[in-house]
Amino acid sequence: MRRYEGLPGAEGQALGKAVLTETKECTVFLRSVSDAEEEIERFKKVQAEYSRELDGLYETTLEDLGQDSAEIFKAYKMIANDDYFFQNAVQRVREEHINIDYAVRQEMEKTCRMFAAMEDIYMRERGADIENVCNELIARLNGVSSRESRKEWEEPFIIVARDLTPADTVRLDKNCLRGFVTEKGGVTSHAVILAKTLGIPAVVGASGIFEGIRDGECIYINGTEGCAVTDPDEALREKYLKEKEQADRKKKHFLEMAKRRAVTLDGREVSVCINAGDSDSTEDFHADVCDGIGLFRTEFLYMNETEYPSEEKQLAVYRKVLERSEGKEVIIRTLDIGGDKQLDYMELPREDNPFLGYRAIRLCLDRKEMFKTQLRALLRASVYGNMKIMFPMIVTLEELRAAKALLREAADELQAEGKKYKTDIPVGIMIETPAAVLLSDKLAREADFFSIGTNDLIQYTTATDRMNEKVQYLYTSRNLSVLRAVRLVIQNAHNEHIPVGMCGEAASDELLVPVLLGLGLDEFSMVPARVGRVKSLICRSEYKKLKDFAEKVLDQDTIAAAENLLRAAAAEAEK
Ligand code: PEP
Ligand code: MG
Repeated sequence: MRRYEGLPGAEGQALGKAVLTETKECTVFLRSVSDAEEEIERFKKVQAEYSRELDGLYETTLEDLGQDSAEIFKAYKMIANDDYFFQNAVQRVREEHINIDYAVRQEMEKTCRMFAAMEDIYMRERGADIENVCNELIARLNGVSSRESRKEWEEPFIIVARDLTPADTVRLDKNCLRGFVTEKGGVTSHAVILAKTLGIPAVVGASGIFEGIRDGECIYINGTEGCAVTDPDEALREKYLKEKEQADRKKKHFLEMAKRRAVTLDGREVSVCINAGDSDSTEDFHADVCDGIGLFRTEFLYMNETEYPSEEKQLAVYRKVLERSEGKEVIIRTLDIGGDKQLDYMELPREDNPFLGYRAIRLCLDRKEMFKTQLRALLRASVYGNMKIMFPMIVTLEELRAAKALLREAADELQAEGKKYKTDIPVGIMIETPAAVLLSDKLAREADFFSIGTNDLIQYTTATDRMNEKVQYLYTSRNLSVLRAVRLVIQNAHNEHIPVGMCGEAASDELLVPVLLGLGLDEFSMVPARVGRVKSLICRSEYKKLKDFAEKVLDQDTIAAAENLLRAAAAEAEK
C-alpha cells in the first residue's frame, strides 16, 4: 500500500483496477529536405486528416456527453489550422529546407515555455492544448498514431496517466470507468471536466504515481481529498465500501428531495432553482427536479456563430425552454458578453481591463439593434410560459431605464406588426457590483426582482480577479463585506416588496445556505446536481433561529471566525 498526494479534481471516491495510459513520445530529428514545397504539402495533408478526425470526435462527444465536453474539439481544430501560429515553422521549411516536424516542435516548445510561465492556471492549461495538438501533428508526420483506440472493459477501472488529452478521454469506454488520476494537469484540465460531467472522481498532480503502479493493480482514489492509494489494505477497502454505501443512499435521498418543496420547519418557503444555459440544458431539462430556472444564460446562442443569431433562432430556443418548464418560472438573462467572453464577429475592442470594460448591458445598450433583436425574441417567447427578463451588470438607474425603454420600443414594434407577447413580464436585474448594492434602494423601486450574482460581486467587492490563482485566498463568498452587501440588498428589496434570488455559486455553498436563508433570501439558483442537497438542508432548518445566527456570523471580525461559526453550526446540524 502506498499513498500519493495530489490535488482534488472532481469529488468522490473510487476503487478499481488501474489502467495505465501513456502517450507514445515521438523522437524528432533535424533533417534537410530537398523540396520545401513538397514538405509543406505533407504538413497540409496531415492537418486536413487530423481535422477530419477532430470533427468525428466532436460529433461522438456531442452525442455521448453534450456540448460542453464537445467544445474542446472545435478549439483543437482551430489550433491545428491556425496559419498564424504555424507561419514561422512553414517559413523555416521554405528558407532553411528543414523538415516540418522539427520546425513545428521548435515552435511548440517556444510557445509552451511562454504559457508555462503564466500566472493564470487556466492559461497554462491552454498551453497544454497547443502542446497536445502539435504533438498529434508531429506524431502523424512520423506515421505514428498517438494513442490506442477505445477498448471495452468488463470490470471497474481507473485510468492512471501522466497526462490525458481530450481525445484520450473521449476514446475511453465510459461504462466501467470509475475515475482518473494524472500526474500532470490542473483542476481545470479536460480529465477533470469530463469527470465532473460523468459524476466520477478525479485526482490531478499526483506525481510519481505512473511509475509507482503496475497495470491491473488495485487502486483507490479520493477526489475530494486529492489522493490515491495503490494496493489498498483491507481496512481501507472496508472504509471505502461503507462510505460508498452511505454516499449512494444520500444521492438517492437528494434526488427525492429535489422534487419536494423547500420549506423550513417553521414554515418559510423558498425556491430552489437551477442555472442553465447551453443547448443541452434546453434539450434535457426536466421541470420536476427544481422550482424553475433562476438563471438562463443566453451567451451560448451567440457563441460558435459567425454572425448574430436571428430573432427566429432565439425565439425557438426560448420557446422550447419555456414549454419544457411546465409553468414554472424561467428567468432569462439578456446577453452578458465581453469581459472574458469574446466573439470574433462582434469585433470587440482589445481592452486593458476587460472585466471593467465594454461588457454585458453596456455593450447591449451601445449595440441597440442587436439588443432589440434579443428583446423581440424574448417578448414573443413570453406567451409560451412563465418568463421573467433579467439585465446583467446594471450599475446605474439610467442603465435600467434605458434597457426598459428599449424593451418598450421592441414591444411597440411587435404590437404594430400584430405579433403576440405578454404585457406583464416581470423585469429584474442582477446585482453584481458594489455600485448596484449601494443603489439597491433606488433600483428596487424600478425593478421587479433582484438576483445576486456573487461570482462577480465577490470579484468587484474584494478587488480580486476570479481567474487569478495567486489571489484566490481573497476570492471567497464568506468574505464579510460580501455578506454585508447581500444583507443590504435583501433589506432594500424587501422594503420595496420585491423578491431577491441568488444565482452565483455561493447559493449552493452548504455552509453558507443557513446564513442566506436567515438573511431572508427568497430564491437559491444553482447547478442542477446541488438542488436536492440544498432543499434537504432548508427543510431541516428553523428560519427564526437562522435570522439570529446570520446576524452573529456577519458580526464577526474575520473570515476565519465566521467560518468557524459556520462549521460548528453545520456539525451540530449533522448530529
Ligand atoms: C455571477 O456573476 O454570479 C453570475 C451568475 O454571472 P456569471 O457567472 O455568468 O458572470
Ligand atoms: Mg456575472
